[in-house]
Amino acid sequence: MPIHEKSLIRPENLVTHDHLELDGVDVSGHWSTFIESRVVTDYNEVLEDEIAALPGGEFIHRCWQCGSCTNACTVNAINPDFNPRYWIYLIRMGLEEELLRDKDIIWQCVSCFKCVYACPRDVNPEGVMKATAHWLELKGHTEPKPSAVFDEVFADQVFATGKIEEGRVLKQFFRRTGQPLFQTWLVALVRGLVSRLPARMLMRLGLATLFHPRTSGWGRARAAIGEYVEEREAADRAALGLEADGAN
Ligand code: SF4
Ligand code: SF4
Repeated sequence: MPIHEKSLIRPENLVTHDHLELDGVDVSGHWSTFIESRVVTDYNEVLEDEIAALPGGEFIHRCWQCGSCTNACTVNAINPDFNPRYWIYLIRMGLEEELLRDKDIIWQCVSCFKCVYACPRDVNPEGVMKATAHWLELKGHTEPKPSAVFDEVFADQVFATGKIEEGRVLKQFFRRTGQPLFQTWLVALVRGLVSRLPARMLMRLGLATLFHPRTSGWGRARAAIGEYVEEREAADRAALGLEADGAN
């Protein structure tokens, strides 16, 4: 099993002497390594409570730091700095400043749920990653990341029509994230679909793209969902001690 430890010792706090002799003994280089002390003054005593109050973070208190989530993680296999176990540790310890050092990669969770299946304590690490990314945005530490933009575009379409039309979701997502519509992988995907799907289904997909069909009687469901979303957003902001109007 790979080791997924990550040290709280910062590289800039490691000091060595290129040339050092003590009592006639040459201790140059790594033999003279010492760690500059550091005083942590920024404990956020409510950090765990705040993450636990957001959707997905509810069971963070169950974590016993076994590392199975990180070991199973798709993103960690590509980038060892992506370390759910370590972030859960930081959150539970209230080490906000350390957590913020990784604020630009936490959102990269691809929701593959491998960690969820691997976790022996039902912590729901994927949910904790989402809650943490949400927390970073609500607190103003990061701009909304592409995954949040995708969620918004997807939810907006469901909210408007009660249906999902993938082509429109992708188009909106590319537009809002400033990406070109014609991407190699997308062209290959569309070609594959056109060559494999029955003509009748292709025609239905084309019509749906043009006419944006709605689920019948969607109005009442939309009102109920809208009410729930408003309540949820207000509860999330209240749990983080933020103003209800969106000001931090
Ligand atoms: S859901 Fe996210 S955190 Fe969990 S294994 Fe997949 S990429 Fe890693
Ligand atoms: S697998 Fe579960 S219990 Fe183990 S470190 Fe990850 S979240 Fe914690």
